[in-house]
Amino acid sequence: MLLPMIIDGKAIAQKTNEESRQAVAELRARGCTPGLAVVLVGEDPASMAYVRAKDRKCQEIGMHSVKHELPATTSQTDLIALVQKLNANPAIHGILVQSPPPAHIDERAVIAAIDPRKDVDGFHPINVGKLALGDNDGFVPCTPLGCQRLLVESGIETKGANVVVLGRSMIVGKPLALLLMNKGPGGDATVTVAHSRTRNLESVCRSADILIAAIGQPEFVKPNMVREGAVVIDVGINRISDSTTRGGSRLVGDVAFDEVAPKCRAITPVPGGVGPMTIAMLLANTVASCRRWMCV
Ligand code: NAP
Repeated sequence: MLLPMIIDGKAIAQKTNEESRQAVAELRARGCTPGLAVVLVGEDPASMAYVRAKDRKCQEIGMHSVKHELPATTSQTDLIALVQKLNANPAIHGILVQSPPPAHIDERAVIAAIDPRKDVDGFHPINVGKLALGDNDGFVPCTPLGCQRLLVESGIETKGANVVVLGRSMIVGKPLALLLMNKGPGGDATVTVAHSRTRNLESVCRSADILIAAIGQPEFVKPNMVREGAVVIDVGINRISDSTTRGGSRLVGDVAFDEVAPKCRAITPVPGGVGPMTIAMLLANTVASCRRWMCV
């Protein structure tokens, strides 16, 4: 039984945010305040909470933040018209349209309308292509970038490591696999991507030096799927009912933390692991975008 390192995502996010705060101060002194526009269509409570958290964090570090909360009946044409206005606005360096939009809106069309140079979420096909090409000039989605930062900041070597990414979504699994296999620090891993059609999932996961779970299945990863001494990164955020808590529910990850942790060299908790990194990397991407627009 090991005493695992608990990777403190809150502390690493705070450090990253402090770096962004300093960068914002320097950019402001040169006459340019990094600006982020977040667009929300509809009133999904979780999305509203995310959008407000992003707005608050931007303001905390001195960034310019604009929040557009549109009714659920907003047409795709009107939404794209707003995106185009933000594309042309020199005070805005990052644009994020909160996912998922209402069903009548084609999310891909909206993402494609964002200027790729302002696509700080990294979902535009140009940025997805750049990541696949190993071109560092694009934007990488914030959650995968946050996972990579957690590994680097925790001194966990990815070079030559066998990494298994559990999940193949465009938001987490696929870009994370590309990021970790690309050349350079925080990369150079030997990556396997597993999903719901993977055969012998248990033994595939057990082959990992670093196992990253991003499937949205509460406490799915059990000790029999984890090699002794592995590093486990839990991206999952799942709400399960729990009558012993005041609200009747609590958050758990995709990993059965209490059972798995004793086998690990290092592991992220939920909450307080990957979660705080997503907004931190969004701020960092917006700062990077502002620098590029200013050519500094
Ligand atoms: P998603 O789009 O639903 O994708 C889930 C992936 O997991 C799919 O590739 C699916 O396989 C795979 N999968 C599902 N059940 C599986 C099983 N039993 N065995 C093997 N693979 C399975 O989810 P997502 O958007 O990537 O999110 C994943 C989790 O991360 C969720 O809990 C979400 O809340 C969380 N998340 C957290 C953050 C953060 O800031 N920390 C950000 C984004 C997401 P198929 O492709 O074969 O269907």
